[in-house]
Amino acid sequence: SRTYVVTGAASGIGKSTAELLQERGHRVIGVDIAGADVVADLSTAEGRSTLVERVRELSGGTIDAIIANAGLASSTAATVAVNFFGAVATLDGLRPLLAGSAAPRAVATCSMASLFPPDEELLAALLAADEAAALHRAGELVAAGEQPASQIYGTTKQALARWIRRAAPTPEWAGAGIPLNGIAPGVVATPMTAAFTGTAEAREAILQQVPMPLNGIFEPRDVAYLLAWLTSEENAHLCGQIVFIDGGSDAVIRGDST
Ligand code: NAD
Repeated sequence: SRTYVVTGAASGIGKSTAELLQERGHRVIGVDIAGADVVADLSTAEGRSTLVERVRELSGGTIDAIIANAGLASSTAATVAVNFFGAVATLDGLRPLLAGSAAPRAVATCSMASLFPPDEELLAALLAADEAAALHRAGELVAAGEQPASQIYGTTKQALARWIRRAAPTPEWAGAGIPLNGIAPGVVATPMTAAFTGTAEAREAILQQVPMPLNGIFEPRDVAYLLAWLTSEENAHLCGQIVFIDGGSDAVIRGDST
């Protein structure tokens, strides 16, 4: 049996993943802003240190896998704080606790929304890990009110995917024997997407923006199987991959650019 840390464990994909891992006999330390083993607000520096301290206490100092999944989809500065800086703090902060595992693994939940054009200024601030500049730029975008609803969200997810690509092959991750990867889901029916998936009309409208020719909108459990595999002992050689579990939206939108 292995010990997994899952952030965003109180709802949607994180909840389903925690349930799947527990059914398989593993120990899960769930993290969320409420209703979890570790209650921490990953949009704040305080919450990020609480996460590391509490997971260290509850685990006894060794974990086998990190699933950095917590996220927000609103066009707000909080989305920037959680989706990028919260995810990076989860991965970097918990990485030392993987040192005692015989098969350490890490994965973060990105999104197919990373395929949409980013806000370049926000992206640059994120890639520079400049949280103050990123929050400032997000505030400007919110105040201007003109950006497409998905722009802040998509930019945070693109930055997270790029961070994973850069970090995965380094001595800290690959050099320490830790596969670090990301997943990029298409539209999954969770509380986050209730407004897009609640009615037949809404589903049709979202599928115009996010083409998913293979089996359409899907359930959190379908994502849980992939997260569980990526963090299992069976995955020892994927390094810095962003696996699109998206019913084909990447294949449609990016076409030939592999
Ligand atoms: P969800 O809203 O059901 O779950 C997200 C969880 O993250 C919630 O429990 C929430 O409380 C937690 N969270 C948010 N802010 C937090 C904070 N500051 N500190 C701690 N926890 C916080 O949504 P979901 O659909 O299960 O989303 C899970 C992940 O999947 C997110 O990263 C999301 O961006 C990503 N994603 C979802 C979809 C989709 O279609 N549902 C598609 C692509 C990517």
